[in-house]
Amino acid sequence: MLKEIKHNIYSEVPYKPSIILLFSLIGITICASMGLWGVYQENYVLAATLFLASFIYFLAFYICKNHNKIGLSSVIVLYSLYLLMFYLVFTGGVDNTGPLWIYIVAPVSLSLHGLKRGLFDIAVFIALIIAIMFLPIEYGSHAIYPTEFKLRLIYSFLTVTFLSALYEYTRDHALKKTLELSHKYQLLANFDPLTNLSNRRIAYNILKQEQSHLSRNQETLSILISDVDYFKRINDQFGHSAGDSVLIELAKIFNEQVREQDCVARWGGEEFLFILPQTCAKNAAIIAEKIRQRVESHTIIFKNNKINVTISVGVAQFEKSSNIDDIINSADKCLYKAKESGRNQVQSVAH
Ligand code: GH3
Ligand code: MG
Ligand code: MG
Repeated sequence: MLKEIKHNIYSEVPYKPSIILLFSLIGITICASMGLWGVYQENYVLAATLFLASFIYFLAFYICKNHNKIGLSSVIVLYSLYLLMFYLVFTGGVDNTGPLWIYIVAPVSLSLHGLKRGLFDIAVFIALIIAIMFLPIEYGSHAIYPTEFKLRLIYSFLTVTFLSALYEYTRDHALKKTLELSHKYQLLANFDPLTNLSNRRIAYNILKQEQSHLSRNQETLSILISDVDYFKRINDQFGHSAGDSVLIELAKIFNEQVREQDCVARWGGEEFLFILPQTCAKNAAIIAEKIRQRVESHTIIFKNNKINVTISVGVAQFEKSSNIDDIINSADKCLYKAKESGRNQVQSVAH
């Protein structure tokens, strides 16, 4: 459970396929309407090419939406756009205005493939565009442009590429910063910065989830609340930072002692809560005793001081009818009993 939560916090924000869907939709609409215009102009080859492009964008849309193949659909969207641009530059499109469309290549390449690969794609694209425009190809439908137009087209395309790259860099940088901050605040909101354990808030949420799980299944769930014995004395004798390092060390021991499915949380100052799914009170008391013995036998070294601590533990088992506060109260009562009975011991509700 805790692993899942940590994973969710650290996992990257998924790359949104919405941008590909949007580009495909724009491609479908623009190409289809330009195709109709081509039919009206009786330029049937251009119209057929544009309808084909519209169909390819539809394919990309379909693959992205129904099969979630984001990489494949982005490649289809981008490289079919390149092919269409090569065709428009080669033939001139309607009245030699085809080359005017090449400006969309820069922002689309960068937003689909990111800065590095996007710039590489653009470099290959412009090299091919230059080849198409400048190579003396003798072919019926090869458009002839004035040299000044070709040069201006390339300069302005490079300017648009530079501005788009700058925008992409700033956007990417801002996104990374936002993700970093969001990770940081999520960690602060969910984990105790001293021990790295989950904090009270997240422990309470896990308890809620486990409780709803319990009401659906015939399982058992127990909790332990442990409190360090005479912790104030450690702070008084060795200083507050010694107390802190004892808490860090205890957190490590607790994490080592529990199973994969369990959760240890810092419940308060020097109090820790253990959530033990699929565990009855009897077994929880055995686990608690093992942890207690492990703490008792461990010596913490802080600045050449040897510090020995013990813990008292209260155990309680979730009953079907009980709510979270009930079970915490009963574990707390057991903890109080353990303290009253001389500390360094485990107490549980009799079952
Ligand atoms: P008892 O056996 O009855 O539990 O005795 P105790 O001295 O542990 O008493 P109590 O639980 O009331 O004291 C808790 C102390 O823990 C008080 C507080 O100064 C200290 N404490 C709480 N949080 C921290 C922390 O983050 N770091 C340090 N160093 N001390 C803490
Ligand atoms: Mg306490
Ligand atoms: Mg204490």
